Amino acid sequence: MWILGREMKVLHVASEVAPLSKTGGLGDVLGALPRALTQTGEATSYVVSARYGSLSPSEFGMARRLRTMSVPLAGENHEVTIYEGRLPGPGAYVPLYLIDHPLFSERPGIYGPPDQPGQDYGDNARRFALLSRAALTLAASFDLRPDLVHGHDWQTALAVYYARVGHHDLGRRLATVFTVHNLLFKGLCSLGEAAALGVAPQDLGPEGVEFWGQAAFIKAGLKFAHRVTTVSPTYANEIRTPEFGYGLEGVMSALGDRLTGILNGADYERWSPWSDPYLPMRYGHPEGTGSTLDEDRWQTALAGKARCKAELQRELGLSPRPRTPLLATISRLTEQKGIDLICSLLENDLLAGSDFQWVILGRGEPWLEERLRALTTRFPSRLAVRLAYDEALSHRTEGGADFFVMPSRFEPCGLNQLYSMRYGTPPIVRATGGLADSVVDYDARSKSGTGFCFTQYDAPSLTHAIRRALSAYGGDPMAFQGLIRRGMRADFGWAQSARAYLHVYKQALLDSHAG
Ligand code: ADP
Repeated sequence: MWILGREMKVLHVASEVAPLSKTGGLGDVLGALPRALTQTGEATSYVVSARYGSLSPSEFGMARRLRTMSVPLAGENHEVTIYEGRLPGPGAYVPLYLIDHPLFSERPGIYGPPDQPGQDYGDNARRFALLSRAALTLAASFDLRPDLVHGHDWQTALAVYYARVGHHDLGRRLATVFTVHNLLFKGLCSLGEAAALGVAPQDLGPEGVEFWGQAAFIKAGLKFAHRVTTVSPTYANEIRTPEFGYGLEGVMSALGDRLTGILNGADYERWSPWSDPYLPMRYGHPEGTGSTLDEDRWQTALAGKARCKAELQRELGLSPRPRTPLLATISRLTEQKGIDLICSLLENDLLAGSDFQWVILGRGEPWLEERLRALTTRFPSRLAVRLAYDEALSHRTEGGADFFVMPSRFEPCGLNQLYSMRYGTPPIVRATGGLADSVVDYDARSKSGTGFCFTQYDAPSLTHAIRRALSAYGGDPMAFQGLIRRGMRADFGWAQSARAYLHVYKQALLDSHAG
């Protein structure tokens, strides 16, 4: 989209950007969407995030600027320094800036201590308000001249607010877009603190950031952005209802057509089995994992995947049985992700009589970690649980597993089901949010579908879906290979989603010019 003969400039502000910092899908999106936007030729993206203590900027070729920047917040001026570099990876150049300040660099975790999953730092409101405000100061001081500020989740909702109410030195009208990656996380603090962090008195009420007597930063994005997006069309509808809106369904409904659902893409530069550096053997081919792939190449691809499976079984201490279906789950261990369903399925031995192995990789809530630990003691030959965050193992798991299990209670988009399809690892999912928008239920008769879906949130329904998958695995080999091939050739790349974002940006620009 051209503004007065040039492409539009978009400033992304986010608390995560893969591969530098990531706790989940948010990081993956920021590692890919900005580049996909720049690659359309109609936008130029900039990304601003924070330099956390665990992050080594030099590892990503980031250079420290000597000049410091003074960021006004809560009645003080905060001196920050900047690391400057580019979003890692091939393709279009996307400038990346990291805000360096003790509130980030002296903390090893992004949101809380790494050894206490689920625990937040007590001053997160202040930390992310600083990131939000610093991004605007940086845009002015580096003369980036953005046309639009794009905030992601509650952590950078205040960047939208500050841009909208004029707390910046850019001296121009800014369009704003806010994306909800997960509505569950609202960014709560006291109203007094929100006021101290720059929310004007008239914006502290229910029509502003107030939420049940507190301030919810996410409302600064929802209420003040010109346009709001979320990460799948189904989730965009679901969050208008009490079941998924978590108290914000009224706000979401009131957005009307200012709220758009855009399915996330998968970053195939990082997630393709033919180029994945983490796999013991690469397999598949970019030009024809689908119907055009000749039989020889296809058999080679399957052999490659079989080797990845054998290596994964060995690595996890499971017996190297090629014909035993290997299920996988890689996830934050929370109720949102349906980990309680997996635990109850295993605890009640609902798959008794079936031959399977299951690898679970994740960190999360202690009560779920404890249940999984107990289950490994009970089923040592079946279950391999790794309570860790391990990027390399997550890739090897996608490569080596036969099925990916993702029984989410709700799922704004979900990325692992997209990666799984590309790795020939059919997903077994609950049909909610982005899972419903990306996985098509398998039907042997019509030879259609890319995975296995269920709707009721309970362990028997999950069990039924897994049993269907296991029976397809042990059934007609050609039909099962058809399922794998359909998944591998499905295209969930970012190009299409980037186009949809451009459309929303255009609407936001028109809105901002309308006043
Ligand atoms: P969410 O953002 O809700 O956590 P998504 O499915 O959108 O869920 O994204 C999760 C991302 O985080 C995926 O890239 C997944 O591989 C990764 N991930 C989650 N847990 C782990 C883990 N323990 N080790 C490595 N990667 C993980």
